Amino acid sequence: MQYKWMDNVRKVEPYVAGEQPKNADVIKLNTNENPYPPAPEVRSIINGMDTDILRKYPDPTISDLVNALADYHGVGHDQVFAGVGSDDVLSVAFLTFFAGDKPIIFPDITYAFYPVWADVYRIPYGTAPVGADFRINAADYMKENGGIVIANPNAPTSIWEAVDFFEEILKNNPSSMVIVDEAYVDFSNGSVLPLLEKYDNLLIVRTYSKSRSMAGMRIGYAIGRPEAIAAMNDIKQSINSYTLTQIAIASGVASVNDEKYFALSCAKVVATRDKYDAVLRSIGFSGPKSQTNFLFFRHERVGGNEIFKRLREQNIFVRHFSKPAIDDYLRITIGTDEEMERLTQALKDIVK
Ligand SMILES: *Cc1c(COP(=O)(O)O)cnc(C)c1O
Repeated sequence: MQYKWMDNVRKVEPYVAGEQPKNADVIKLNTNENPYPPAPEVRSIINGMDTDILRKYPDPTISDLVNALADYHGVGHDQVFAGVGSDDVLSVAFLTFFAGDKPIIFPDITYAFYPVWADVYRIPYGTAPVGADFRINAADYMKENGGIVIANPNAPTSIWEAVDFFEEILKNNPSSMVIVDEAYVDFSNGSVLPLLEKYDNLLIVRTYSKSRSMAGMRIGYAIGRPEAIAAMNDIKQSINSYTLTQIAIASGVASVNDEKYFALSCAKVVATRDKYDAVLRSIGFSGPKSQTNFLFFRHERVGGNEIFKRLREQNIFVRHFSKPAIDDYLRITIGTDEEMERLTQALKDIVK
């Protein structure tokens, strides 16, 4: 139907999230969730929750979680901003820092949400092509711009760039906020966090969805200079004051407090990743050396869409992007060893 009010609608091409099947039999390797449960204390918090506290609004400053995360990362309590998943944090960051007239820049192959936020907030943007090996070229980020956003490790390529790479970009862009989306950093060689002392134009964004096994709780956060965090809080307080629920705040603190469980759980994912990296290469797959909880691989003979469809028939879900430069590739989340073994058996049959 065409109604008269439709001329006043803000039109946007939305981001398409990975499928969340209702069927429990699915081997779900399509949205980079963690196959292991959250820290045991998270369960205790949820089981022991006194529902009477739900009468009240949660703390709008989210201070329990913000302080716990600041202490964990060794930064000031005024240097952390928390939000409803890192998608919320990134969205607030785009709105806060990308208000200039010059186009912002991000790689042409990266998290597909960046152009969507730019469109919905009317932020001009340009993309910089990644190389044939999918590596990001730092020189592309040295021209005039209104801001920069780079995922490190990048998605869906799984490639990590070293701290020096970001130092060069930060040094050459003092008038731009440089957002480094570290959604997968806990599976990599390390964070750009040490650069925050030297560069005031750095904002690091993190999530509980991958390494902390809490995608369903919706927790993300940013680390930056106090002035940057204050600017984000001004925007947040102008849209929705109460973002994280009481349960999210308390369970987020419980996760940060169990460093040992966290380290073990990340190490398990990394060990499985490195094992199946070799297994899949031995049956004709290739791709970058992953520093994330997924593999970005293609097969030497069988196309990406073909493998994607045939896996799906067997209730094994992986992610395939129909973008020309990467449509031979599959993004395969690292599951448990059992899930990866079943995937391998299915793939052997498909590519034989
Ligand atoms: C998963 C992901 C996010 C979003 O994570 P949420 O915290 O679940 O919103 C952001 N950036 C990248 C690169 C991701 O892969």
